[in-house]
Amino acid sequence: MRIVLATSNPHKVDELRHIFSAEALANIELIGLADIPRTPPEPAETGDTFIENATIKATQYAAWAGLHCLADDSGLEVDALHGKPGVISSHYATDGRETGASRAERDEANNARVMRELEGVPPARRTARFVCTMVLAAPDARVLHVATGHFEGRIGEHGHVPRGNGGFGYDPLFLVGPDFTRTAAELPASEKHRLSHRGHAARAMAAYLRGL
Ligand code: IMP
Repeated sequence: MRIVLATSNPHKVDELRHIFSAEALANIELIGLADIPRTPPEPAETGDTFIENATIKATQYAAWAGLHCLADDSGLEVDALHGKPGVISSHYATDGRETGASRAERDEANNARVMRELEGVPPARRTARFVCTMVLAAPDARVLHVATGHFEGRIGEHGHVPRGNGGFGYDPLFLVGPDFTRTAAELPASEKHRLSHRGHAARAMAAYLRGL
């Protein structure tokens, strides 16, 4: 079975190949959008939830490619911010608007906004989680399966974070439970994959695919 991943990010393709091979899914060939020699559509991620956005991407790319398609959508939910940044995690500093800023510039501005909004909030109320929802669609754009993973932690306090050089996005702010001594950016990649929202969702999706 051939599955196209709804991403042009080669790191995500490699990460999923790694997880699927560890899950003994030898009969599944994963390809990226960049492996199809046609210009892909650019679905508008207009949903209010991770599942809506992942479904938009999976169904549109599946129909375009004529292949099964696996799409994910992910982000950070901070309890003291009523679940924000949520679906606008990648553009939180600009309230979800695309500005053409680089990923590094966006990450820095997004992190600064979260830290500013949590000023004065004590550690026990700085709880947060990363969420990843994966949707598998068939070539006829039917949704076959949905898998969601969570990664619980806390946003560190000013003076303690940012810390660490690994990962991306909010990782340098995110203290990993249960003991909250390290940020996600301080974890070796293999440990982050084992604990992360994306890792949990991918292994749940792999279990579904194994059962087909
Ligand atoms: P996407 O699903 O790759 O578009 O991710 C959405 C946004 O959520 C990213 O731009 C990050 O800001 C945030 N995010 C998702 N996963 C992670 C993670 O593992 N670490 C840090 N930030 C993440």
